[in-house]
Amino acid sequence: MTDQKNPYPLLSQTLDLGFTTLKNRIVMGSMHTGLEEQKSGFERLAYFYQKRAKGGVGLIVTGGVAPNISGWLYPFAIKLTNQKEVRKHKLITEAVHKAEGKILMQILHAGRYGYHPLCVGASNIKSPTNKFKPRKLSNWGIKRTIKHFMRAAVLAKEAGYDGVEVMGSEGYLINQFLVEHTNNRQDQWGGSFDNRMRFALEIVKAIRQKVGEKFIIMFRLSMLDLVEKGSSFDEVVILAKALEQAGVTIINSGIGWHEARIPTISTQVPRAAFVPVTELIRKHVSIPVVCVNRINTPGVAEAILQQDKADLISMARPLLADPDFVKKAQNNKAQEINSCIACNQACLDHVFVGKQASCLVNPYACNETMMQSLPVTKPKQIVVVGAGPAGCTAAIELAKRGHKVDLYEASDRIGGQFKLSAKIPGKEEFNETLRYFENQLNKHKVNCILNTKVSTDDLIAKRYDDIVIASGVMPRIPDIEGVNHPMVVNYMQLLNGEVEPGSKVAVIGAGGIGFDVSVFLVFGGKKMGENAQGYYQEWGIDTTLQHRGGLKQTIEPRPECEVFLLQRKDEKLGKRLGKTTGWIHRTTLKHQKVKMLSGVNYNQIDDEGLHITIKGKKEILKVDQVVICAGQESDKALYHASMAKGISNVHIIGGAHIAAEVDAKRAIKEATELALRL
Ligand code: FAD
Ligand code: NAP
Ligand code: SF4
Repeated sequence: MTDQKNPYPLLSQTLDLGFTTLKNRIVMGSMHTGLEEQKSGFERLAYFYQKRAKGGVGLIVTGGVAPNISGWLYPFAIKLTNQKEVRKHKLITEAVHKAEGKILMQILHAGRYGYHPLCVGASNIKSPTNKFKPRKLSNWGIKRTIKHFMRAAVLAKEAGYDGVEVMGSEGYLINQFLVEHTNNRQDQWGGSFDNRMRFALEIVKAIRQKVGEKFIIMFRLSMLDLVEKGSSFDEVVILAKALEQAGVTIINSGIGWHEARIPTISTQVPRAAFVPVTELIRKHVSIPVVCVNRINTPGVAEAILQQDKADLISMARPLLADPDFVKKAQNNKAQEINSCIACNQACLDHVFVGKQASCLVNPYACNETMMQSLPVTKPKQIVVVGAGPAGCTAAIELAKRGHKVDLYEASDRIGGQFKLSAKIPGKEEFNETLRYFENQLNKHKVNCILNTKVSTDDLIAKRYDDIVIASGVMPRIPDIEGVNHPMVVNYMQLLNGEVEPGSKVAVIGAGGIGFDVSVFLVFGGKKMGENAQGYYQEWGIDTTLQHRGGLKQTIEPRPECEVFLLQRKDEKLGKRLGKTTGWIHRTTLKHQKVKMLSGVNYNQIDDEGLHITIKGKKEILKVDQVVICAGQESDKALYHASMAKGISNVHIIGGAHIAAEVDAKRAIKEATELALRL
């Protein structure tokens, strides 16, 4: 029977590892935050990890730490090679242990993914994602690298870590040795699988021999490479068994190399889509196995354990989004969890361009020491106008600090433009943020007044101490002849269901919204998040591992309508989309045969369709609908009216402040920062 106080009993079960016990089944997966290399970064990291340990997570894994310089992810990236560095790591381990947490240090040798001229590889085969060609390690170099892994583990033990995770997946050095895709050696480190797995096994054996029995060794095993000439099912199983023999305590799952052209963690990946792979491999070993990727609610995690598909659940980004995830789940407060929506916008997109990570839904993440929400001594009466992401966040954060807050919204529901994003097939996860906003507005007793468009007179009459304008953005309507033709609609009308989609549609504007609207059109607005089979078929994923690397043929798509996606700039469409997700949007539309045209001039819209000039040539796109996705303009009417009436205590945030390139990340961050100041 379900415990009423804790509806996730299996998630809360301890796990006895023989020499130590994990307090529950949630592992915070490894994430590089960018703090690792910053001045005073270790102090901030210590606080960051401690907060997650206090939030109840059973086991934390740090971001990857190189065992030597050639293993750097990029020049001067974090490494552990000497005593001076041990002292810095102690800040982390002491902070986590003080909060009764357990923490492993991940040892990551980037191999040919190292973005620097010193990078090395099993062979000298260049990665498609790196301009630097790796130097092939000599036999001596391999033996030295094994010693460096061992040294890093010994130093990690000295620094107080409870164990190490050996990074053997995602296409990093160890993984590069395992497969012919990157290993064409003919010596004892290449050729047969026995030879290719030797490097991984020698590393584990060397570590186990030096650190003794009472130290966790977790190995991140690449179960599904998703690259040509990747591992076969038999090879993954042989390696898993050999790792167990060599002294590994826990096997973690690795899914997809960084260079794989298949999305594995972004929002359109159905929840828990890769658990079947973990389940398959787990049957062949007797040590605990962790499952990973797109598990972001306690319900999904508990179901995996109930169905006996894994022993532990790894969540990385969900713990960035909410450090108290575990505590909230255990206290029957899952509705209060600020869920990760798998957008990658403030975490991976930041890290991949060398910026510090944070989180779109939780700007406090990695900024815990700089942004602190303290209760106010003199509560004020504050009004927030507009309940989009900016307005909802401002209202919640102000109320949390003790202010009395009225939140006005002109429409019948909170969420603003963000509501529309959740209607895009594959972005259903965005509903979780709306659920969180609703829960928190309620919890912190914000007075929400819907269906009410506020005027300056209303604001003056109520004599608020502070006025926060978060009135957002409106679609920009471009100046094109015939723009008022009945076949022309804007994205809001289409996504709100005010008009039916056409059968042959031109989308004007290829920013994030133009791409999303095209997805909405080709998939006919269908929900995709729960359709794992559809996702495997669309991307050619074989979770049964009957094909090497888990790759199989994709199926022929059947788009719901014919779409032309257009932009004026003469550059690749989607070039400015997210670093880690732009390619997914482009590939999705390519699969669905969307025609993407750049360098377009819009001449006219009439009964014949959309008249354009492209590279000097005139053309008519014979469409029955034109959807305008040409960016936005700020809705500043109320702000200007307030200023004109001499109201001085007015603050403006989000899209209402600056429309250009506003997204939910900026809206939420700006609102949080304002709330901490008032
Ligand atoms: P808005 O969301 O525009 O909210 C303003 C609110 O104020 C509205 O609800 C409006 O009704 C209300 N209002 C205005 N005037 C008044 C008044 N006088 N009285 C009362 N209420 C008033 N961003 C991302 O970061 N990632 C994405 O993946 C993403 N995808 C998107 C997909 C689509 C299809 C769309 C349309 C947007 C997407 N966005 C995305 C953008 C994101 O939704 C916006 O940047 C964000 O909503 C802006 O927040 P805001 O609070 O400033 O304004
Ligand atoms: P946007 O990214 O600024 O794109 C607007 C598009 O309209 C551009 O392609 C632009 O290209 C075109 N355009 C601009 N002015 C025009 C005009 N006068 N006539 C014709 N075309 C014009 O804005 P958006 O797509 O509306 O997105 C709004 C915000 O939401 C963005 O900041 C975006 O980051 C965010 N968002 C993010 C995601 C995501 O997945 N991360 C998804 C959706 C939205 P040309 O000028 O070259 O034609
Ligand atoms: Fe999740 Fe997006 Fe936050 Fe990253 S930025 S942790 S993907 S919600």
